[in-house]
Amino acid sequence: MALTRTSHTRDDYSAAAPSDIRQRNRTAVLRAIYPNVWCSRAELSRITGMSKVSTSDVVAELIQDGLVTEGGYQNSPKPGKPALLVGFNARSMNVASVDISEADGMRGIVTDLAGDVLERDQEPIVEHMPLRTTQVVEFCERLVARAHAPVLGVAVATPGTVDEREGVVLAAPNLGWTDVELAALLRDRLGLEATVANDADCALFAERCFAQGSENMMLVQVAKGLGAAMLIGGNVVQGADHAAGEIGHVVVDDDGPQCVCGKRGCLETLVSTPVLERRIAQEPGHRDDVVADAGAILGRALAMPVAMSNISEVIVAGPEDVVDDGMARVVRDTINDMVRSRFIGAVNVRRSQLGADAAALGAVAFVMRDQLRIL
Ligand SMILES: [Zn+2]
Repeated sequence: MALTRTSHTRDDYSAAAPSDIRQRNRTAVLRAIYPNVWCSRAELSRITGMSKVSTSDVVAELIQDGLVTEGGYQNSPKPGKPALLVGFNARSMNVASVDISEADGMRGIVTDLAGDVLERDQEPIVEHMPLRTTQVVEFCERLVARAHAPVLGVAVATPGTVDEREGVVLAAPNLGWTDVELAALLRDRLGLEATVANDADCALFAERCFAQGSENMMLVQVAKGLGAAMLIGGNVVQGADHAAGEIGHVVVDDDGPQCVCGKRGCLETLVSTPVLERRIAQEPGHRDDVVADAGAILGRALAMPVAMSNISEVIVAGPEDVVDDGMARVVRDTINDMVRSRFIGAVNVRRSQLGADAAALGAVAFVMRDQLRIL
């Protein structure tokens, strides 16, 4: 799996206690070699700006932890003993990740630290509304038991608004949850670090980390409703109420259909899976027109936030029967027609390539960001 590194603006290295310096040095070495760069200790010293002695100490510590491994020797035209290369050991630890955003059940994966899936499992959600947290915790527990290596952390991708720093699901109407302290529950029960994040944020971060997504990117998820997530300068935007990206209930047509929220013409009354599937069933001969109309509505709705944030890439995710390349093209053309100017270049719009694992993979990437600071 191809990986790209995200920006490193998240860290604040200003307070330099000894433990911080140690962590900073470990992070610098891991970032230099993640996911598959092999280099000598001397090269690492040059890349990180650390002294040769510090570099050797940190590398020795990381080798002891299993995160770094020694490989072959460097080909060098210079005489003398060739330098031994070190690289990242992606198999040294695993991450267990669960996506609970799908209506039909929970989807779980166990991956290595490169995001390669080693194990997968699924479990139907028996008792909806509210979903029992013990069902999620026990599913995570079973995944952890199937890990091939020590587990760095567990992660859950959930629908709804989430305080991702605290791991609290603030409101997830589809699960019947309010203020569920899921990360704390997982930590207590499993004795492992836990990350809980919104499913669209996860899918977005997966595109960034595992599919060469841009640092300034938006992901729109066409599902039962419509949600979005945004990455600015490599950081997932959370917003004042942890609700950034909740664009489904923004009115785009004053005379539009009545929405469940009480308003008329919300974006998701015009662009969502059930609405589009119903329209296609009504006009089977005009499927492409239905999808193109939806793409144009979506493109117009996204033009302003795209320009406002100077987003360079938009990813449209959703079931293939409605979200196809044709829709992505119409979204792209609509946005570019509306936004392009001498200040703003062409915006790239594409469909998600990560399939059904996207949210769970993004949750894995959040664990690596939080625990190793390498993404
Ligand atoms: Zn609404």
